Amino acid sequence: MAKRTKIIAGNWKMNKTATEAKAFVEAFLTEIGSFAGCEMVLCAPFTALETVHRRLASAPSVTVGAQNLHQEASGAFTGEVSAAMLQDLGCSHVIVGHSERRQYFGETDAIVNKKAIAALGAGLKPIVCVGETLEVRDAGGTEKLVRSQVAGSLAGLTQEQMAQVVVAYEPVWAIGTGRNATPAQAQEVHGWIRDELKKLFGAGVADATRIQYGGSVKASNAAELCGQPDIDGALVGGASLDPKGFADLIRAGAAA
Ligand code: PEP
Repeated sequence: MAKRTKIIAGNWKMNKTATEAKAFVEAFLTEIGSFAGCEMVLCAPFTALETVHRRLASAPSVTVGAQNLHQEASGAFTGEVSAAMLQDLGCSHVIVGHSERRQYFGETDAIVNKKAIAALGAGLKPIVCVGETLEVRDAGGTEKLVRSQVAGSLAGLTQEQMAQVVVAYEPVWAIGTGRNATPAQAQEVHGWIRDELKKLFGAGVADATRIQYGGSVKASNAAELCGQPDIDGALVGGASLDPKGFADLIRAGAAA
C-alpha cells in the first residue's frame, strides 16, 4: 500500500478580512513552529489569498488555497475568479464542489467536474468534495450517491491528473453541526470512495489518492478520525478559524 502523506486543510468560508488573515497566519506560524508532519493548506477567501501567501513564505509545509473558482478561463463572467488568477496569487489548492456551493449555488457534479479540470489546467490541486445529506443517509442511499458524485466530479480525468487531486468526504449533516461522523461511519464511506477510484482509474491511483474527512473535526476527535486506514487527513471549517486550536488539531491528526 502507498504511504499517503496526510493533508489537513482549513476552510475559513466567508470569514476573515485580509487584516484578520494576516494576524491569523502570524499566530498560526508561532503555534505550529517547525512542525512538518503533514501537508497543511489554509483555504482563505479570495480577498485574503495574497496576504496569506505572502505571510506563508517562510513556511514551506503550509500553503494557501482558494475555496472556489470559475470553470471558464476568462471572459464576461462578472464577479468570478479564474484558475489562472488563483495560481498567479500563489494558490496551491482550490476546493471544488463544497456542499455549500452545491446547496446554495446550484453546483452539479458536471460543474464540479469542469471546475476540477480548470484547476488542473492551471496547475492547481483541486480538493473535490462529496457527501450525502441526512435524508439520503437515512434512506440508505449514501453509497450510491457518493459513488456517483465521485464518478461525475472526476469524469474524464487522466491517471496523471489524479495524482494532483485530493478527495474530501464531507457528510452534509456533519458540516458545521458539531456532529461528526463516527470513525467507523467515515471509514466505511472512504472505503467506498477508494473502491470507486479503483474502478475508475485503477488500483495504483486508488491507493495513492488522499481522501480527507470533513465535518465537525476538532482537536479532540482528529486523531480517531485521521487514524482510520482510508482517512488521509481532514478538511476543517469552524475549528480552523482559531490559530492555536487549528495547530493542535493538525498535530493530533497528523500523528494518528
Ligand atoms: C467544511 O466547511 O468543509 C467543514 C467541514 O466545516 P466544519 O468543520 O465546521 O464542520
